[in-house]
Amino acid sequence: MSSFRSRLDTLRGPIEPKPHNARSLAAFTANPGCRRRALLDAAGVDKDALAVHLGYPLPPTQSPRALSRGAQFEAQVKDQGGAELLSLLRNVLHLPLAEAAHSDLSVLGTSDKSLSVRHARTRSLILEAARGKGPSRTMLDHPVLVLMVSGRPVFLEPDLVAFQSEGVFHVVEIKSFAVIDGQAPGDKVAGAVLQGAAYIIALQELLASAGLDIDRVSTTLLLITPRDFTRRPMASTVDASQQIKSLRRQLNRLDGVEELLDQLPTGITFDLAYDGDDPRTRTATRDRDDLTKALNTTQARYRSNCRHHCQLALFCRSQAHDGQLVDVLGSAAREDLGSIDTIPAALGLADGSLSPAPDQEDLAAALRYAESIRNELFGGAA
Ligand code: SF4
Repeated sequence: MSSFRSRLDTLRGPIEPKPHNARSLAAFTANPGCRRRALLDAAGVDKDALAVHLGYPLPPTQSPRALSRGAQFEAQVKDQGGAELLSLLRNVLHLPLAEAAHSDLSVLGTSDKSLSVRHARTRSLILEAARGKGPSRTMLDHPVLVLMVSGRPVFLEPDLVAFQSEGVFHVVEIKSFAVIDGQAPGDKVAGAVLQGAAYIIALQELLASAGLDIDRVSTTLLLITPRDFTRRPMASTVDASQQIKSLRRQLNRLDGVEELLDQLPTGITFDLAYDGDDPRTRTATRDRDDLTKALNTTQARYRSNCRHHCQLALFCRSQAHDGQLVDVLGSAAREDLGSIDTIPAALGLADGSLSPAPDQEDLAAALRYAESIRNELFGGAA
């Protein structure tokens, strides 16, 4: 085993790495400057379990009802061999031919153990289609794609199909949020496009590994959603090229995590010291203060949107509050305050009780000006 891998294993402790998925890969693009998360993600640390043990669990993001609504809509769209889906795709992709090949890979199993078998079959069907050896139109239902992250394969299961038209492959995302009067909820579309970007990159890698041109994968995502307040599906297209670039950058950056490992004191681990092997019954026994000290050897970069993409958000927010970091004031204040990291430092520069560093002169002048306006308005009252 390489020393890089063994150092990541030490960081995680003697349990299997938490598998990534499209959602967790998509989260890489949010707050890319956080070194703490980069290390935890590279080592496959279970951030959920870490947050729970530290006493800062995040509330569930999706209700069981929303999950079941999503599954129902997907089943409806894919019913009868994807007949409805096919007619939507014909319209949006302008397919000239009537025939279509539909291959449902879920027949090979849907358990974790079947992932590598389904991936092998996905790979062979896609390459067959790309080389023009299979049916000219191919719809792959429940495909499994793979991306290498920190030297480990991450299996990605699009909840949708990949489709080939005129030699180009398209990734299709089926989502249950409604598009009302042509307007979709922006945050939901953004999340779907980021996840779609992970699938598109994995598909590009698949073609590249066989010496085929990655331009044969469309960078436009096809989104299938309910129309208005009905359950009738509609198709729309979204350009995912920026998200693909951004995710590729972050994946490459994760490979560069070795440098961050070098900066950690020797022997640091986030091992939760479980008292057994069974994930359903085991209990973490690691001393919390000790664990917090270990985490504090990594540099966090708390931002208000951390709660949307990182399970440690409440823990890091509490630390940012305790340290009176300007990060808790939101991204606008964080950006405005540049190199000033703490609220007491900003206040000290504003009232003149602290002298600015040479690169803080302009900022300090702006803060003093803001302070003078505040004093004029409130007469110096807090
Ligand atoms: S919650 Fe903490 S670890 Fe996660 S990205 Fe934010 S600062 Fe980094």
